[in-house]
Amino acid sequence: MTTDDSVVVRSPFDGHEIGRVPSCGPDEVQEAVAVARAALAEPLAPWKRAEILDAAAEAMVRHRDELAIIIAEEAAKPIKTARVEAERTVITFQAAAVEARTLVGEIVPVDGAQPGEGKLGFTLRVPRGVVAAISPFNFPLNLVVHKVAPAIAAGCPVVLKPASQTPLSAIRLQEILMDECGLPPGWLSIVTGSGGTVGDPLVEHPDVAVVTFTGSPEVGWSIAAKAAEKKVGLELGNNAPVIIEPSGDWETAASKISVAGFSHAGQSCISTQRIYVHRDIADRFTDALVPKVEALVVGDPLSEDTDVSALISKGETERVKGWIDEAVQGGAKVLVGGDLEGEVLAPTVLTGVTADMEVCRSEVFGPLVSIISYDDLDDAIAQANDTRYGLQAALFTGDLDAALRAVHELDFGGVLVNEVPTFRTDQMPYGGVRDSGNTKEGPHYAVREMTRERLVLIQR
Ligand code: NAP
Repeated sequence: MTTDDSVVVRSPFDGHEIGRVPSCGPDEVQEAVAVARAALAEPLAPWKRAEILDAAAEAMVRHRDELAIIIAEEAAKPIKTARVEAERTVITFQAAAVEARTLVGEIVPVDGAQPGEGKLGFTLRVPRGVVAAISPFNFPLNLVVHKVAPAIAAGCPVVLKPASQTPLSAIRLQEILMDECGLPPGWLSIVTGSGGTVGDPLVEHPDVAVVTFTGSPEVGWSIAAKAAEKKVGLELGNNAPVIIEPSGDWETAASKISVAGFSHAGQSCISTQRIYVHRDIADRFTDALVPKVEALVVGDPLSEDTDVSALISKGETERVKGWIDEAVQGGAKVLVGGDLEGEVLAPTVLTGVTADMEVCRSEVFGPLVSIISYDDLDDAIAQANDTRYGLQAALFTGDLDAALRAVHELDFGGVLVNEVPTFRTDQMPYGGVRDSGNTKEGPHYAVREMTRERLVLIQR
């Protein structure tokens, strides 16, 4: 949507201006929803939706490098990680194209009851209506695609509100979809503005049927309360635990965690945060992890060497630094990092943390992991489960019995064995319990959230 007012978007790394976007308000929200409603009145056939989504997947390959630079600049995501994000959108669009081609209802055996004799029953999956999509800063492109692609597959026009810090990759995506992929006008509108200014009128708009939100639990649950009569899908935070058993491949675990705890400076909802290591291997695991974290390169997100760059704002840097200081005052020990390198918080490993410290009980969303040793698997599972969150958890073990116990007893949306909790591919069902949310994303699942089943009954 356009308006004469604009706001400056700045690099979180060094503050330079990287773009300007319209400063939208309630009027632009009204306009965007009206345009989306008009688009809904001219449905796209499923084959056409699939064709657009396939074209989008191909366009994402062509535009990978350009989109990666935008992501790196607006989110301070190291360029090599930003490239991976841009590449992942290809799979997300491809998976949504499959859904567009194959989405069906089901046969209902109405003649299984005597009154249904002579009747044929089945369901159709029909679009729920206009989708309001609200996305966070940490995956400014792929998490937008996780909302837009299934909505197109479902036949639902979208009004998107991207995070205020990271609107530029979403805007470029919209241009590419319309200019190169055949997405008709009205199928994707973007309203840029703060959560309070455009978010509230968007989620409360009577013509919005579905709200799909990814972000913090505080904002997510407040949206669910404001939009009680709508279909609301929430993908929220986490403080992901991993348990490492003595029989597990702890060297592989250390290698993977040196990436999984620090990718995009830990600003991922499934960033590995709490590491429960059996006491018998705790020293060896720590000795394997610490040098790998020490070797991470801190710096400019546009440099090919950089592993860890700035957090999204100075305020976030101060918050995480404050949590580290509080932990140290409470008896935790810094094994590496713990302070700023220039303006960037250094990758940090803590030990000696307790369950009541913020670094353990809350979502850190920063470049920080904590090592906590345990003696007994029961205790480790209980500690991993002792959280308001429940997105993904993981266990490294060579013992089938321990693996089976973990998959049954870890109370999370996903449990991964011999992999970090940070693993995700874009077609898998992804979502949490408790304060991690109430839905599953992944195109197959999101399309079902954005459509509803209509029963059809035919008398022979
Ligand atoms: P956030 O502060 O909750 O913001 C998320 C989005 O909500 C932004 O677009 C924000 O807009 C908007 N918003 C804020 N107030 C609003 C309101 N009153 N009405 C409507 N929208 C409003 O989260 P964030 O800091 O961007 O992202 C970090 C959080 O996202 C973490 O907790 C992380 O774990 C979670 N996350 C979860 C997943 C998942 O799949 N489960 C994936 C990624 C991230 P403004 O930018 O204008 O404030």
